[in-house]
Amino acid sequence: MNCLEERILKDGIVKEGNVLKVDSFLNHQMDIDLFNEMGKEWKKRFEGANINKILTIEASGIGIACIAAQHFGVPVVFAKKSKSVNLEGEMYVAEVESFTHKCKNQVIVAKKFLNENDRVLIIDDFLANGCALQGLIQIVKSAGATVEGIGIAVEKGFQAGGRIIRNLGFQLESLAIVDDMDSKTGMIKFREEQ
Ligand code: 5GP
Repeated sequence: MNCLEERILKDGIVKEGNVLKVDSFLNHQMDIDLFNEMGKEWKKRFEGANINKILTIEASGIGIACIAAQHFGVPVVFAKKSKSVNLEGEMYVAEVESFTHKCKNQVIVAKKFLNENDRVLIIDDFLANGCALQGLIQIVKSAGATVEGIGIAVEKGFQAGGRIIRNLGFQLESLAIVDDMDSKTGMIKFREEQ
């Protein structure tokens, strides 16, 4: 068992509606030593990949991506959620449906921060149905850049996102994959390492 899984068992709270709350260490209060271990692990798993930029999405991905970036020695760009519509031209735009808030957001990245020479590692905190990732992948493609890999902290393996993204052929490295959880008992079951 890795340190993220251990921490999820210790401090994660299973809520109704398939939501795992990890706000005491991952996406509200942040445990930087844990983030550092996660960054180290992604660096190992993407050894040899020619990554020159990390792309994430606000807000929860930013802290994780920044600490991971120190292991890769590359800058971080985060996609901003925006309600504005008139952004074509200077911005890459994708539509993303929020799993936790059940609303649609446009996410945007300024064209000056992503171009066809970029080889991108996408990082995010959670993978559920894969909407956030699909939006980020679309932005990378719009820029003519390449997705070198995808690093996720917590994948909920009982939702479709992981399968969809792997079937698209991307190297997806999730540090903890929850295959089952129950809000009544608090049970959390992780996927065995393959
Ligand atoms: P997806 O787009 O894959 O359906 O959902 C991913 C996004 O929804 C993540 O960026 C994350 O912010 C949020 N999310 C999805 N599931 C959970 C969850 O169980 N707990 C928390 N805290 N966030 C989640």
